[in-house]
Amino acid sequence: MGCSSQQVTANQTDTRKPLILVVEDNDRNARLVKEILVANHYEVVEASDGKEALEAVRLVRPDLILMDLQLPDMDGLSVTQRIKADPETAEIPIIALTAHAMDEHRSHAREAGCCCFISKPISYQNFLEKVKNVIAASLRCDSH
Ligand code: MN
Repeated sequence: MGCSSQQVTANQTDTRKPLILVVEDNDRNARLVKEILVANHYEVVEASDGKEALEAVRLVRPDLILMDLQLPDMDGLSVTQRIKADPETAEIPIIALTAHAMDEHRSHAREAGCCCFISKPISYQNFLEKVKNVIAASLRCDSH
């Protein structure tokens, strides 16, 4: 077989993998999300409650945060608001993750500062696409 017209991605310069903070108190969900992200060449840091999330954000400055809205110590919207209120971390995009996919919850998530919304149980393709799009959009913002 000769060379096909399809380009092999041999010219992928090995830049830093995007770092994603996964805030999720449910072990199974956290493991699933982590597996998907790691398999797709993202770096993952985990937090299982709001306090851990706030500490991790300051420590690692992730490129993206996936925020479960139902956390044991504080709700994900309050955590989001705190991250957005701090000028040092306000620019980090946050995707809300919740089993409540109602419009009301979506608008609350937006008001708190989440850029978009993924409902659980997550669908692999939709999940990955949103993650990719949000990271691509924020990288574009960084470049000027
Ligand atoms: Mn939860």
